[in-house]
Amino acid sequence: MFTKEQRSGIMRRIKSADTGPERKVKRLLYKMGYRLLLQNRDLPGCPDFAMPRHKTVVFVNGCFWHGHTCKDGRRPKSNKKYWNWKLDRNLARDKRNAAILKRAGWKRIVVWECETREECNLALRLRKKLRAR
Ligand SMILES: [Zn+2]
Repeated sequence: MFTKEQRSGIMRRIKSADTGPERKVKRLLYKMGYRLLLQNRDLPGCPDFAMPRHKTVVFVNGCFWHGHTCKDGRRPKSNKKYWNWKLDRNLARDKRNAAILKRAGWKRIVVWECETREECNLALRLRKKLRAR
């Protein structure tokens, strides 16, 4: 049912399930009145949260691993070939999963890890993303 890549993504997700950024987003979404399904493993890319009533999934993405345009998303200067291969593969997988979700009618929200550092800003950004869905 899952490809090897998806499975390793899932394992990574499970391990990182309750780290800081995810917890902050979870708390805020609850506060905003959203009811969440956590760790929805049946959905492509294993989103951090799913809001079935709104048919929306939320990914809390690490800037480095998912290629954010911020400074944390910069690629290492050494071992370029390896990192390009590895990170391009991640990006391609994200894109593929996004397309599958879209076809299945899910809206997708991405919260970047760098956006979760200041809680007040995070609440604002989250509201904006939810409105823009
Ligand atoms: Zn970032």
